[in-house]
Amino acid sequence: MTAHDRFFTQAVHAGGDQPVAGSHLKVDGRPIAPSIDPAVTYTYDDMGDLSGALHDGVGYSYMRYGSPTVSALESAVAELEGAEEAVAYATGMAALHAAFVQANISAERPLLAAQNMYGATFSLLRKMFVPGESVHFVEITDRDVVQAAIDRFHPRAIFVETISNPLLKIPHLPSIAAAAHAVGASMIVDATFATPYVMQPIKSGADVVVHSATKYLGGHGDVMGGIIATSAARAAELRMQLRLYGGNLGPFEAWLVLRGVRTLALRMREQCANAQRVARWLSEQPSIAKVIYPGLPDHPDHATARELFREDCFGGMVAFELREADEAKVFRFMESLKLIKCATSLGDVYSLLLYPAQSSHHALGREERLRQGIGDGLVRLSCGIESAEDIVADLAQALNVVRSA
Ligand code: PLP
Repeated sequence: MTAHDRFFTQAVHAGGDQPVAGSHLKVDGRPIAPSIDPAVTYTYDDMGDLSGALHDGVGYSYMRYGSPTVSALESAVAELEGAEEAVAYATGMAALHAAFVQANISAERPLLAAQNMYGATFSLLRKMFVPGESVHFVEITDRDVVQAAIDRFHPRAIFVETISNPLLKIPHLPSIAAAAHAVGASMIVDATFATPYVMQPIKSGADVVVHSATKYLGGHGDVMGGIIATSAARAAELRMQLRLYGGNLGPFEAWLVLRGVRTLALRMREQCANAQRVARWLSEQPSIAKVIYPGLPDHPDHATARELFREDCFGGMVAFELREADEAKVFRFMESLKLIKCATSLGDVYSLLLYPAQSSHHALGREERLRQGIGDGLVRLSCGIESAEDIVADLAQALNVVRSA
């Protein structure tokens, strides 16, 4: 942490100046925490005011059009991302879908997407759009390949993850954004893995920043959500589309995510430190064939991470490959873990381990998965906030079990 790290203060207070939900109740004093406002609809004494709320966005009218508790979360995330506004969704996938729909891609002006990404996002692009026509996949960390694809396809938008799932590749956002903007394309970034604690993509030229709030923003494995941070103009269009598609975040969920955001900086600081410690330890183990962590000097994008990320902070995710492992060996390793939970999510206070071939990237099929570099022995660890020594000890005893089997 640098001497004066404003993010720690921002995370605690961002969005706190929202109008108090339920202020129509005329309570005395301002509650220190936002209220959960479950009202689906709002009534006004003056029908002109109701018209304003319904059609001009002045005040609240109907929950699908907006809710005070959701607004509080949206303001907080917009502030943390350095965006003009944010729009919340029921899940990260709903937010990604909204971002792709808004991009208005076509065969003439397609989406250029990183080939490494979360499996469901890959499936969304493959199944809901037309690969080879309205979507083209490229190796996003190769700047020459990206430039050639931009020249060839003249994309309307480029999509990347700040840290890719699960191979932890780090695209050089400023150069990709500059190349995108040069042909009038926008830059859509899934920032779920990095969070605004590690980097704020808008500062690197991103136009649309998407989060699965289910992960680090919520942080406790008890809420699903998605959010897009962007310009006021794009947010207005997204809100208009959200009114029609639905897929809104509910007030209870917004409240939980916002509560998670308050400790985002503290959790990320610990999770990044734990991941660095665990990655270093794993890289010394003979039973591990490969460790992928952007904080290790041998990671291919280590220099990019050093340039773009918060100082000495490389995220809380570590991927590693068990030596000579097939599914049975990986399953044995997973079943031997005691502290680390094997479950299909990430970013929680608990350490979670996932086998991409089994869950996040299962739908790709083995051939495509291997083509993308996700081997049969690769597992992905989301470091929690437990003591690093306990995480390491659990990995050590599980590796021992596998070795002696
Ligand atoms: N983006 C990334 C990078 C993810 O890892 C995930 C889920 O794991 C999502 C988006 C989808 O989020 P959700 O499960 O909230 O829909």
